[in-house]
Amino acid sequence: MSTVGKVIKCKAAVAWAPNQPLVIEEIEVAPPQANEVRIKIVATGVCHTDLYHLFEGMNKKGFPVVLGHEGAGIVESVGPGVTEFQPGDKVIPLFVAQCRECRFCKSPKTNQCEKGWANKDYDVMSDAESRFTCRGQKVLQFMGTSTFSEYTVVEQLCVAKIDPAAPLDKVCLLGCGICTGYGAAVNTAKVEEGSSCAVFGLGAVGLAAVMGCKAAGAKRIIAVDTNPEKFDKAKIFGATDFVNPKDHSKPITEVLREMTNGGVDFSMECVGNVEVMRSALESTIKGWGVSVVVGWTNMHDFSARPITLISGRTWKGSFFGGFKSKDGVPLMVKAYLNNKVKVDEFITHNMSLDQVNDAIELMKHGKCIRTVLAVSSQ
Ligand code: NAD
Ligand code: ZN
Repeated sequence: MSTVGKVIKCKAAVAWAPNQPLVIEEIEVAPPQANEVRIKIVATGVCHTDLYHLFEGMNKKGFPVVLGHEGAGIVESVGPGVTEFQPGDKVIPLFVAQCRECRFCKSPKTNQCEKGWANKDYDVMSDAESRFTCRGQKVLQFMGTSTFSEYTVVEQLCVAKIDPAAPLDKVCLLGCGICTGYGAAVNTAKVEEGSSCAVFGLGAVGLAAVMGCKAAGAKRIIAVDTNPEKFDKAKIFGATDFVNPKDHSKPITEVLREMTNGGVDFSMECVGNVEVMRSALESTIKGWGVSVVVGWTNMHDFSARPITLISGRTWKGSFFGGFKSKDGVPLMVKAYLNNKVKVDEFITHNMSLDQVNDAIELMKHGKCIRTVLAVSSQ
């Protein structure tokens, strides 16, 4: 029986409160309204930004919420005004919009679209924008997506149509972590051929940054992590040197400067820690060093000495790897299908949505790169 135009009752993992395990609930998903698309989520990754909202962000207003923003699925139905998508299309929901009309979309300098929900906020949609209810209560949507649910409703500005040949249980990771890290290296840092790079933090985002540095032709890629279990993977993605800050009595900045005759050309912080952001900046060489903040935090200020920048370094941030989302994600999917970027190598665990709390625990304890959750069958 067709579900078009009807409320869908389905399974979702609801985060009722900060620091609490998610609860598998039956939720109601309203039909898509004007310019919205209802998507059957097939698979989703678990990203550190989901954990940030749950454990670190202290956003008490951001609950109850359905987390998840690294998913892939199939269009179930579309709201009035949607011409770009049809039921059956394979899609990746996007946490950054691309309207193609605003001054930001028209500029090649940025991917910060001015339209859509994310213009107002970066983490949860408002009550009015969310299409979820559970136990008679409105449930918020995380990053405009909410992929820890069998169905979700997303603005059409925040959906990318992808190659029908793409395996959704793999390319879901292109909805966040891989594009974020890869793009931070190639789009934001603009890593150059023959350069030296340092990547701090070797989760999926950092490993993708390593992959981006390698694709850009970096000669030396120093992988930095306090968890040495991550180094084997970093090697697969192209890292040439491996440094555990805990193995050294000197500050990591000094270690890297000594290894590279004054500092690396490019560094990327993929941890989400303001101290590490400073170290990453100070590990770059004076004159032309570029450091990119990728790790996510809105909790603390960071600091550095002005002379660090006066002497010629550049400090930048990167949101979704600088990719214009609707344009970039299908291209990354194609690149994966053509064996130009790796995706399978990021997946260390496969589980079902019911096991989402186990997946969260694995990430919390540094025991996975990415867990892919099977959400619904195709
Ligand atoms: P993850 O938890 O899988 O990886 C983080 C890694 O950092 C771990 O390997 C951990 O051992 C390492 N680490 C911790 N402390 C360290 C230190 N002091 N020095 C070196 N390494 C250290 O997380 P992830 O999913 O790869 O995400 C990484 C960061 O990127 C998070 O902050 C996440 O929120 C952020 N993120 C940002 C964007 C964006 O658009 N800017 C998008 C997605 C994720
Ligand atoms: Zn993410």
